[in-house]
Amino acid sequence: MSNGDFFYLRTVNGYVIFIKDMLSGGVGLAEVSVVRCDDYNANEVKKALESAIDAVNGLEKFKPGMRAVVKANLVSAIPAAGAATTHPTVICALCDILSERGAGEIVIGDSPGGLYNSAFVGRVYNVTGMHEAEKHGAVLNRDFGEKKAEYPEAAVLKEFYYTSYLDGADFLIDFCKLKSHGMMGMSAAAKNMFGAVPGILKPEYHYKYPKHEDFARMIIDLDEFFKPDLSVCDAIVAMEGNGPTKGTPRKLGALLASPSPHLLDLAAARLMGLTKDDVPTLEAAFERNLIPASAGELDISGSLDDFAVSDFNNVADHNSIVFHSGETGLRGRILGSIYRKALCPRPVLKPKECVGCEECFRICPAKAIVMKDKKPVIDRKSCIRCFCCQEFCPKGALKVKRPAIARIITPEK
Ligand code: SF4
Ligand code: SF4
Repeated sequence: MSNGDFFYLRTVNGYVIFIKDMLSGGVGLAEVSVVRCDDYNANEVKKALESAIDAVNGLEKFKPGMRAVVKANLVSAIPAAGAATTHPTVICALCDILSERGAGEIVIGDSPGGLYNSAFVGRVYNVTGMHEAEKHGAVLNRDFGEKKAEYPEAAVLKEFYYTSYLDGADFLIDFCKLKSHGMMGMSAAAKNMFGAVPGILKPEYHYKYPKHEDFARMIIDLDEFFKPDLSVCDAIVAMEGNGPTKGTPRKLGALLASPSPHLLDLAAARLMGLTKDDVPTLEAAFERNLIPASAGELDISGSLDDFAVSDFNNVADHNSIVFHSGETGLRGRILGSIYRKALCPRPVLKPKECVGCEECFRICPAKAIVMKDKKPVIDRKSCIRCFCCQEFCPKGALKVKRPAIARIITPEK
């Protein structure tokens, strides 16, 4: 199994053996870099970003004249201070670095949740501060076309629709923001590529892959289909709590880079106090031998321990609860279903924060929400726990909560 300059072999008992590919000249090169950057001061950001990228030889394949496409995280029209989107200062720094290395063209794009058209995405560009990047030589993507992909090698996503501007990339950069995430535990480089799916189709994919492990496999399929040439993570100020859109900014003071979104995520998870067992996309990457079992096995430039925090407020833990009743057959499935309902995190309304806008009702892929007296009521039997309602509630009125019994059985970390 090859991953850039490195090989992973996984034995039948799950033990991961790591061998550096001597022939590709990877000796001494880190898989992931983490560099201190204490705030969004433009000069400091550029220095730190260049150092992070060069530590992993991240622009080795980038040649003068190339068209660089930067897939930012522009999940919603939220100002940079909200820590939901890739900060414009780090995007601008990247544009400067690419220009200095002879970029033919730099395109910044994403498909936020919602309509994928000029008016909707244009508003997201405005609010998130992306126009700053135009002063640094970039253009904001205005191609709102969609294409169908056939991907027979995929684990689950054999065919899908994606935003066609990504096809124009000679060099694709996955530039994510580090955030807690209601459904996936963490949003970083791997999850960022879900933005390749046109906004309005995203709920359909949630409905098609209601199990978290399948949804994670779908995300990894997208990553492997697009194979970003470089992944970078803005964790200068991350998001904790009710992520990925309405959480709380949390300063970590770090920029990370890697040729692999999966290796980057394994390192980034460590900063939040998470392991692969807590993050379905990391489990799915591990299944495919794309990552080792723990961040401790990564070859890292910099020290994750210098940035990791022990009290990061992660959203409700998805994977720490054991659902198996120990029984098989119909009885086992029924017990599993009862345990799941009793223990799983779920979206819960804070009525005082709800303004009755109906966005959750419109976006729910399972049609599990009805509006009653201008407040959403969730049918728990129909809910697939995709947390789209929590993600896109403009007021943050829906929170991910674990039932009381789950909190007693497995207290928060
Ligand atoms: S999206 Fe949020 S504010 Fe709007 S109705 Fe739903 S819970 Fe209320
Ligand atoms: S109620 Fe919320 S979490 Fe449940 S299916 Fe609908 S959008 Fe997803």
